[in-house]
Amino acid sequence: MKLEKCEYDAVVVGSGPNGLAAAILLRQHGLSVLLLEGKDKIGGGLSTEELTLPGFKHDVCSAIHPLAAGSPFFQQLPLQQHGLEYIYPEVAAAHPFDDGTAAVLKKSITETAALLGEDEKTYLNLIAPLVKSWPGMADDVLAPLHFPKHPIDMARFGLNAMTSATHLARHFKTQAAKGLFAGMAAHSIQPLTNLATSAIALVLMTNGHLKGWPVPKGGANQIAQALASYFVSIGGIIETGRYISSLNQLPSARAVLFDVTPKQLLSIAGHQFSSVYKWQLERYQYGMGVFKVDWALDDAIPFTAKGAREAGTVHIGGTLQEIVQGEKETTEGKHPERPFVLLAQQSLFDDTRAPKGKHTAWAYCHVPNGSYKDMTESIERQVERFAPGFRERILGKHTFNTGQLENYNPNYIGGDINGGIIDLAQLFTRPALRSSPYRTSAKGIYICSSSTPPGSGVHGMCGYHSAKRALKDIFNISIK
Ligand SMILES: Cc1cc2nc3c(=O)[nH]c(=O)nc-3n(C[C@H](O)[C@H](O)[C@H](O)COP(=O)(O)OP(=O)(O)OC[C@H]3O[C@@H](n4cnc5c(N)ncnc54)[C@H](O)[C@@H]3O)c2cc1C
Repeated sequence: MKLEKCEYDAVVVGSGPNGLAAAILLRQHGLSVLLLEGKDKIGGGLSTEELTLPGFKHDVCSAIHPLAAGSPFFQQLPLQQHGLEYIYPEVAAAHPFDDGTAAVLKKSITETAALLGEDEKTYLNLIAPLVKSWPGMADDVLAPLHFPKHPIDMARFGLNAMTSATHLARHFKTQAAKGLFAGMAAHSIQPLTNLATSAIALVLMTNGHLKGWPVPKGGANQIAQALASYFVSIGGIIETGRYISSLNQLPSARAVLFDVTPKQLLSIAGHQFSSVYKWQLERYQYGMGVFKVDWALDDAIPFTAKGAREAGTVHIGGTLQEIVQGEKETTEGKHPERPFVLLAQQSLFDDTRAPKGKHTAWAYCHVPNGSYKDMTESIERQVERFAPGFRERILGKHTFNTGQLENYNPNYIGGDINGGIIDLAQLFTRPALRSSPYRTSAKGIYICSSSTPPGSGVHGMCGYHSAKRALKDIFNISIK
């Protein structure tokens, strides 16, 4: 990189939540920062569009935001003053069963546990200590591998988090608790027999009790708009429609941070990297893809279970065994007949999402990476199973297969929405085993996307840690 007479101190390529977080932290420390986005709109995975019919606003990618609301970095920013308003459904998530009941994750841990009958105490013993220690521990969990500030709390968390979801679920006796836990763990998008699949379940449940699982009023893009508005208010510069395919297209800068995944980084800057680093990035693994459906609805989804009718998110997959089997088949390259479906019903809580009296719903299931199979029928059959009459309420629908998703956002390689599989091998060493995962082998070039720790989700912590690294390495600015 050129070191003198640079046009900017730092350039950030990509305006997803991590690119925005990185740009903000760099600007907060007095640097001149240019944020470049390839698409016409900023936000990456934070996108809201009228995909189906006029007046129906759909979250194209992320929908539910416990990680954004609980993000140690985003919480420090005045996002409310920049137009962000979170709405918290009382029931964060529900998990319906064929008998018409549903397990629910509520804000209150005692109410959630009490509804699990025989598993009340087991649930409290597992989750209550995490809820208590999370505020101090969040910085440790949502960070690259390091010696933790709270070693005892972290050890207790790690002991359970590093196990497979199927192993940890053995502590529960009831179908309700086992299913609820499996649905949470299935957010990891990998076989639930894999080590560390319990981690995401524990993080999501803990955040559900601490903060809830909010939807942003007006849509997920409001988070991006608030971050961008704050960034510009402190002097940052954003340019959209600037797709970068080579380093030559960049203005000169002392540091460049890429909110892209290793495959793209190799294509843009690979010629600058050492052969070892290139070899490491080439070995990086992408995981399962997703198939997504958005519906415009005449009325709310008529779930049989009351809990599901009241929830922001509904995990549709039935029993633990069924979810385990479905995720296993998908990893093996198959398309399960009864896929695990993640569904959100934002318009129940946010009346800006649909015309008066109408509703939206958002759902996806996992599919093999690169699959082009249309899963609409399987997904709708699963919803209908727990909400008879659902199909009669559909006014319009829009679907994305894995290729269309990647076309929408080049970071979704083969439809992988996590920026690479988050299994044990890539949990701490994404994208490569190095003293800092954010630093590439070329001086001044950093990676800041969800392909770095702590991984996927709208929390901005990958961008925060990457910018922190660049501040120290290039600008000699240390942040505690
Ligand atoms: C269907 C779906 C559902 C999801 N649901 C949730 C959810 O409910 N909750 C949650 O927390 N997370 C969810 N996620 C995941 C979340 O959206 C991502 O983890 C998050 O957006 C990753 O942020 P990022 O900044 O790393 O990358 P992205 O958000 O992917 O942003 C990358 C940006 O970089 C731009 N870019 C890429 N290459 C270039 C280039 N060469 N030049 C210029 N610009 C470039 C892209 O256009 C994009 O704007 C979901 C994702 C999807 C797709």
